[in-house]
Amino acid sequence: MKQKISRRNFIKWGSLASGSVALAGSAVAGYEAGKDTSSNTGWEREKYGDGQFFNRKPFETDEAVHDIQGATRRINYEENIFNRNRELFKLIYNKEEEQRWAFSDGIEKLPEPIKSYYQAHPEALSEYELSLERAKQQRVNWKDVKEKYILADAWSAAHASALYGKHGARFPDEPTSPPEEWDFRGIKHQQLPFKTPKHASELIKKIAYSFGATLVGITKLNPDWVYQGKLRGVGKTKFEVPKHWKYAIVFAVPHEWDSMYANPTYGSSYDAYSKLRWISGKLDAFIRHIGYAARPHIPPTSYEVIIPPLAVDAGLGELGRNGIVITPELGANTRIAAITTNIELEPDKPIKVGIREFCNKCKICADTCPSGAISFDDEPNQIIRGYKRWRINQDKCLTVWNTVATSHSRGCRVCLAVCPYSRKNNWIHTLARELDPRDPTGAVSTAMLAMQKSFFEYPDAHEFLPEPDGSNATYHNGPEWLRSEEWCDFNNNWE
Ligand code: SF4
Ligand code: SF4
Repeated sequence: MKQKISRRNFIKWGSLASGSVALAGSAVAGYEAGKDTSSNTGWEREKYGDGQFFNRKPFETDEAVHDIQGATRRINYEENIFNRNRELFKLIYNKEEEQRWAFSDGIEKLPEPIKSYYQAHPEALSEYELSLERAKQQRVNWKDVKEKYILADAWSAAHASALYGKHGARFPDEPTSPPEEWDFRGIKHQQLPFKTPKHASELIKKIAYSFGATLVGITKLNPDWVYQGKLRGVGKTKFEVPKHWKYAIVFAVPHEWDSMYANPTYGSSYDAYSKLRWISGKLDAFIRHIGYAARPHIPPTSYEVIIPPLAVDAGLGELGRNGIVITPELGANTRIAAITTNIELEPDKPIKVGIREFCNKCKICADTCPSGAISFDDEPNQIIRGYKRWRINQDKCLTVWNTVATSHSRGCRVCLAVCPYSRKNNWIHTLARELDPRDPTGAVSTAMLAMQKSFFEYPDAHEFLPEPDGSNATYHNGPEWLRSEEWCDFNNNWE
């Protein structure tokens, strides 16, 4: 028997249904808008500086943005996975036999400071050994996927060429003398007399935008963000933070969006890093030309400062669960470099736009990280050098980088791609970006997260990896211009 529908029920179910249709409609519209290539934000799309369109003023904060727990300290050189990787790599593959080191020699035979580091963290050395085995295996596996990914490989190699020149030459030059000399080299003019620090900041930002930066912020340099133990141009040494490193100009660009959204084999971190290198080199030259000291700090190879907390201090964004600075404009697709200088600048303020609160609930990056490197803790609860934050297991992350390696290592970036903040700039994401930080109830973020999780499919974490561990599943399709099968006829003899 058909149930009679009361008016009350009709209205109730009717509004539920229309609510669902509206929700589904806006999700579909958002999904479609997210795929629209004309809605990218970033490199050469906007007029200079117009990429930094989010109004930070209402969210500027005088509250502490770092959760300090007890004594804080500077980071040591060997606490960074890239530095340990560099040191171990040199030892393991050194051509001079007597200087070599093998895993069978054990931690005690390692030189300082990595010996002490691995004595305290022996599991990190085992993870590194695993990561080298994976890299070796992937070099063998590469021949099976080479045809599919040859365009992506060539694209990545092209970007990398801007980072690693022949005979170690790079742009900008690597320092070969102490900062007190190097950062002042070639200065011929008196210091440009700026009317005020505000004028200086405004001009420097305009110049950085003109060189290709999408976002620029300025902060006083917190000495806790300066590495300890190695100084370019001097060597491995304990050093005082140079007095002329007063301020940091911090600038960001996104990766090319469509390759970033796809699986790790299609993307390339060299893409954004090489752009940052060009911006840094030009800004370095500009600042010294107007009489001031400048020193570029460019990941992943050439820096003395930890970039993410510096970018937080400069008001570019907030630190996410994935260890990336998430900005209102670029989300987690934000790659950052900095210049330390002695120009008297007017610093920006940090911002609080609710990203930390969103991360508490979201955990999408932790779910989809192929290495399990990202914390599932409900709130940041690790104290690192006196600051409370989420911890990333760098060693596990590197193992996935080496697992993904094809003809050369290119990293992962899944945690950038799947982050709900890393959407292209369209109306639905503009709405969410403006509403969520103004909503004290958290309802907007809960609704957006529910939509994100209901309407967007994520491959399982391990599927992002290439075979045999995964199937190179892709979050979004790789861009058609990197899909070899669209452009090439292969025959079995092609190598
Ligand atoms: S880069 Fe990949 S492996 Fe590393 S934390 Fe992000 S998702 Fe995990
Ligand atoms: S995916 Fe979610 S939890 Fe991870 S950084 Fe982005 S918003 Fe935060």
